[in-house]
Amino acid sequence: MIQLYIPLNFLGVMYREIKQSLTDLDKMFTLMDREREVADAPSAQALVVPPEGAALCFENVHFAYDPARPILKGISFDVPAGKTVAVVGPSGSGKSTLARLLFRFYDIQQGRITLAGQELRQLTQGSVRQAIGIVPQDTVLFNDTVEYNIAYGRPGASRAEVEEAASAARIHDFIAATPKGYATMVGERGLKLSGGEKQRVAIARTLLKNPPILIFDEATSALDSANERAIQAELSSVAQNKTALVIAHRLSTVVDAHEILVMEAGQIIERGTHAQLLAANGRYATMWALQQSGEAA
Ligand code: ATP
Repeated sequence: MIQLYIPLNFLGVMYREIKQSLTDLDKMFTLMDREREVADAPSAQALVVPPEGAALCFENVHFAYDPARPILKGISFDVPAGKTVAVVGPSGSGKSTLARLLFRFYDIQQGRITLAGQELRQLTQGSVRQAIGIVPQDTVLFNDTVEYNIAYGRPGASRAEVEEAASAARIHDFIAATPKGYATMVGERGLKLSGGEKQRVAIARTLLKNPPILIFDEATSALDSANERAIQAELSSVAQNKTALVIAHRLSTVVDAHEILVMEAGQIIERGTHAQLLAANGRYATMWALQQSGEAA
């Protein structure tokens, strides 16, 4: 019986290992498939980021995943170097699509996107991705240690640098309190982290990468107000001196933005600072009043 059990047990372990590897491979191919949708132009140049940072600009951008269904219909805005612009609007209005286009997962059908005055289509994808840090809504963690997951932002980073980034992202104390600390395995086979904790790991990764351009896709999940304030503080520490595009679901995150864009059905229907939009008494002011009364309730 024992003789049979050991090989069967071994097979079970092997099966789980193979299944996990396939899951990882599957994720990788999904990413690669997306990347294959666009190719570097033969004359593509590396992005040059000037010392003052990289402004980013959308000029009359039209985009559809499927030609029969336009998603972005003439989007124009710019984020000056070192400033933060926030995008708000209902689910499906096209906010995350802006981030995907900036990262050049897809090419646009009409208009121009520029980084530091250089057109995205004429730049090498490698140099663009090097310059942009994304804190996504849903961070994928590797089945590896916490240290590996954070250091992924800058391979070769020292433990001290990893810990510094984790402290700034306010996840260090949580990690230090686990029995194995930075050697704790995370991901599907390890310690399960909450959405907020995963997002902090992503923030630490991005802090280590230290890119001039930042995209922050705020998690949709409801947070209590203490957690919300903490995420806001982390966000402003990451965004300092960077050109940042924040896709926000909670309006309290955007009050200090240089400009707020209100999107609806692929168009910008209102824009301005928080004070200007409140004074305009339009869609943003209604959304603000609703969130305030929701929080009060
Ligand atoms: P949310 O606030 O829910 O994240 P969003 O404003 O970020 O929404 P997007 O993710 O930009 O919205 O999606 C805009 C529209 O594009 C949606 O109708 C969505 O169904 C569609 N869409 C998104 N990704 C794809 C895709 N890969 N293929 C086809 N359609 C897509």
